Amino acid sequence: MRYTASQALGWLGVYVFLSLLPLLVLFIGPVPPARTFWIELGVGLGFVGLAMMGLQFVLTGRFSSFASGLGLDNMLQFHRQAGLIATGFVLAHPVVLILSSPGYLSYLDPRVNFARAVALIIVVFALLALVVTTLWRKTFGIPYEWWRTGHGSLAFLIVLIGLGHVLMVGYYVDPLWKQLVWIGFTGAALALLLHGRVIRPLALKKKPWRVDDVRSETDKAWTISLKPQGHDGMEFEAGQFGWLTVGPTPFSLQQHPFTIASSAENPERLEFTIKELGDFTATIKDIPPDTPAYVEGPFGAFVLDDAVEQKGAVFLAAGVGITPVMSMLRTLRERGENPPVQLIYGNRSADSIIFREELQTLSQSLDLELIHVLGNPPDDWDGESGLISPELLEKYLPEDEPGRPYYVCGPAAMMDTIEEYLVDSGIEGRRIFSERFSIV
Ligand SMILES: Cc1cc2nc3c(=O)[nH]c(=O)nc-3n(C[C@H](O)[C@H](O)[C@H](O)COP(=O)(O)OP(=O)(O)OC[C@H]3O[C@@H](n4cnc5c(N)ncnc54)[C@H](O)[C@@H]3O)c2cc1C
Repeated sequence: MRYTASQALGWLGVYVFLSLLPLLVLFIGPVPPARTFWIELGVGLGFVGLAMMGLQFVLTGRFSSFASGLGLDNMLQFHRQAGLIATGFVLAHPVVLILSSPGYLSYLDPRVNFARAVALIIVVFALLALVVTTLWRKTFGIPYEWWRTGHGSLAFLIVLIGLGHVLMVGYYVDPLWKQLVWIGFTGAALALLLHGRVIRPLALKKKPWRVDDVRSETDKAWTISLKPQGHDGMEFEAGQFGWLTVGPTPFSLQQHPFTIASSAENPERLEFTIKELGDFTATIKDIPPDTPAYVEGPFGAFVLDDAVEQKGAVFLAAGVGITPVMSMLRTLRERGENPPVQLIYGNRSADSIIFREELQTLSQSLDLELIHVLGNPPDDWDGESGLISPELLEKYLPEDEPGRPYYVCGPAAMMDTIEEYLVDSGIEGRRIFSERFSIV
């Protein structure tokens, strides 16, 4: 379930505490003589930056109980911002030290200590590579899977060299137990990396799935159905997603997040509706039945809120962003629940409307008001045209009912427009559920 604002703030507090923990540890036991303010500031920035780098592995660790409460996109946004701040701190560490005492330049001089200078220069380049390849991955045309592998490896290299640097300088980690704390901290980061890349795939291997069929929804969207092999399937909440790997091994680099579009009442048959967008999604239509598959999950906080049964809901979706909404509508139908719901669904053209017929059928069996909006409508179109704009929302959104949730999923620009409109209309943030498919 999604965290309340105070729970999320509580987790933020834990994060800040853990980031500052190295500084607190420094002051336990014998403390070496203080130096100038600027030197201590430079050292402090290095310690905190390194601790934040280590915590990055926790943020991407896919711990479902913790990540689901925050939502993947929020978590990854936080990971990205924290990564930038940590990089700033780590890079500021030598800059502040050198500016306050130029003697520190010797740390980067290979003639003084070759191994140390090379290691520190590698860290600086690794940090720059980490940031540049993340912010401009698409500009450089780096495939997502290669970027993800390189990102984890570079991050670990930085933390490892950081640890070596802390231990070699040794100024604030004199008693052995302080050194052990740092070694333990780095070991935990490595353990998290191993957990993600080795332990989790091994666990997935014990719960294999097989492709049952692949059917076309539009000329660019396909539904792939999976059935469990030797287990009972996967319990999930309507609207959640899983990381899908198709092929003989769960160790593949090709692991992608997709929403489970089928009803949460059927954990023994998962359906993902996938739009062709790049190298992996273009292969879906050619996957033969009986191909092995693996699903890690479920994840996500974009789920049917308890309030929906009483208050109904408003769904605002565009394109393939309909998948979590479809899971919710299918689930409501199978549970025999019939709250008043409205769906405003935007698409480029009539041909690209995913689930068009099923939505029509659902609008008869559920208390569902269905409003299609087309960017390029055909001549005989009598529905809405253009984008889902504030004017369109003004025209169609029902009068607000206190407690009723709003669900938004679609392209980033559409989500920004809608979220801004809802907030400006006085809808509290806790009632606005958003799922962003484009996370990096
Ligand atoms: C929570 C969530 C739910 C999603 N649900 C659906 C869905 O129901 N249907 C659907 O069609 N799409 C969904 N997506 C989007 C889907 O994951 C991407 O379209 C898909 O991974 C693209 O892979 P590609 O190799 O074909 O394209 P590429 O051209 O390689 O990638 C296109 C973009 O997709 C993203 N992406 C690619 N690979 C990954 C990956 N392994 N992990 C995370 N992001 C990646 C990157 O932003 C990339 O720039 C969802 C995404 C998220 C985050």
